Amino acid sequence: MSSFAFPPPARPAVPVEGTSALFPVRRILCVGRNYAAHAREMGADERDLPFFFSKPSDAVVICPPGQCATVPYPSATSDLHHEVELVAALSSGGSNLTPEQGLGAVYGYAVGVDLTRRDLQNGFKAKGQPWDAAKGFDLSAPISPIRRKANCPLPQDGTDTARGRIWLSVEGQARQDGRLEDMIWSIGETIAQASRLWTLAAGDLIFTGTPEGVGPIKANESVKAGIEGVGEILFKLL
Ligand code: MN
Repeated sequence: MSSFAFPPPARPAVPVEGTSALFPVRRILCVGRNYAAHAREMGADERDLPFFFSKPSDAVVICPPGQCATVPYPSATSDLHHEVELVAALSSGGSNLTPEQGLGAVYGYAVGVDLTRRDLQNGFKAKGQPWDAAKGFDLSAPISPIRRKANCPLPQDGTDTARGRIWLSVEGQARQDGRLEDMIWSIGETIAQASRLWTLAAGDLIFTGTPEGVGPIKANESVKAGIEGVGEILFKLL
């Protein structure tokens, strides 16, 4: 009978809205360039296929409703950027899913911010190096509680387009103000595509990309973000 060499690390978990239950986080996958206008502002061809990168599961920062969470300003950057994103939380998974099956794997949705060390990312892009330190750093994924799918006005089946406003402000100034229906790939299509590359499973979070208007946030600035029908988050960089 083996035991752990030391107590195992705590499992990151996100509250489920309106219950005492926690959603245990397994993996975090993120889509790059899923909104045409953001792809253009990043200098990419809007017809490029979206692609994936990941963050560690312990990157999540829980932002309780009605409260201001704190996020430490990360080390090794002087150009931290915000990217507000719809997050799909999965309660099942599999490989080679159809868009219908992909959407069927969704347990609920949350508002997330894909914090990005843009200066590092630009350097890595120029050198053809991996993005991990630019995207997958400590506490780089502030997230709202998860709202159960049935309580969200988002697609309930198939390749339906999600509809609703997605926005982010810094210090009360509007920075991002987009529409979910401008996503290049639907939620079901995104999950289906991810399942061709990884075996998805319960506990996976999929960040579905950000609309245009990404930009810098400085220490001591507060970020508020929301998605119509899904929720809002508020946090301050310290
Ligand atoms: Mn992103």
